[in-house]
Amino acid sequence: MGFLRTRRRRPVFEEHSAPGSSLLDARKVTKQANTTRVSQSGEPLLTTAIILRTKDYGEADQLVVFFSKELGRVTGIAKNARKSRWRFAGHLESLSLTELRLRPRKRDGLVWIEESCVLDGRLDLRRDIRKVAWAQYFVELTCVFLPEAHPDPSLHDFLLEFLHDLETSHPSPVMLILDELRFLGLLGYGPRFDACPLCGKELAQGHPAYFNARAGGACHFQCVAAGQDEYVLLSPAALAVARRTSGLDKVSAARIRLNRQALNELRSALSAFVRYLRGAEIHALTFMEKLDSSSIESE
Ligand SMILES: [Zn+2]
Repeated sequence: MGFLRTRRRRPVFEEHSAPGSSLLDARKVTKQANTTRVSQSGEPLLTTAIILRTKDYGEADQLVVFFSKELGRVTGIAKNARKSRWRFAGHLESLSLTELRLRPRKRDGLVWIEESCVLDGRLDLRRDIRKVAWAQYFVELTCVFLPEAHPDPSLHDFLLEFLHDLETSHPSPVMLILDELRFLGLLGYGPRFDACPLCGKELAQGHPAYFNARAGGACHFQCVAAGQDEYVLLSPAALAVARRTSGLDKVSAARIRLNRQALNELRSALSAFVRYLRGAEIHALTFMEKLDSSSIESE
């Protein structure tokens, strides 16, 4: 019974933002339907990117997944990165904002990373394990839900701002959940909290609802009961907050308070939802849950 609604996907190719809007403009970005959108002329390309993941590759190379405003999510190979410390040392770490010089590879959709220079290593963020866990969660969502080589400037800017705010302030648990909801929305997977996705009818204010991951939102009890599916009970307070993802500035968001139980309800609903979408484990989420359970034990 596959009643998960069709998610909104943005067009594969979007217009790039105006030159000068990023720290360093991509100098040679093709608008043709290339796999990587990196210039195929063989000329190097400069771009600024958020490093998402790195992995050792072969004897001395490193695979680097990065998210550039102009290119989207791309995988590059940093040749001899583990030997050539003067060229790459410390520049290619997950969460860092880094300037990259790229060159296309002919045989596949990957690119060579010829040189890198870190612009923001997020050193303050790295000192707080809980902040690192949240940052890694958003990075993992980007890796699994954003298709490769689909530029998405809005998502890129949102992630950049989220990492900056996380590093320079202490977002409340409610703000983090609202950011998560907005981020899922930008990825095209925002869950619904206004109307029941099973029958399409509005959910009455002031009443609880029943979040069903497969349906993609909060449902009437009679609708999920008929489907015999698992659900997470959402109290009216939790629902009211989840509905406030749009048109909310940071100052107003910082003022929203929610009791522990309602926060737990939203956490359970969203965790079930992203795991259902992924169809597999979300490692950063598991890590966050371990952190939470260890802090409860030590209280
Ligand atoms: Zn319904």
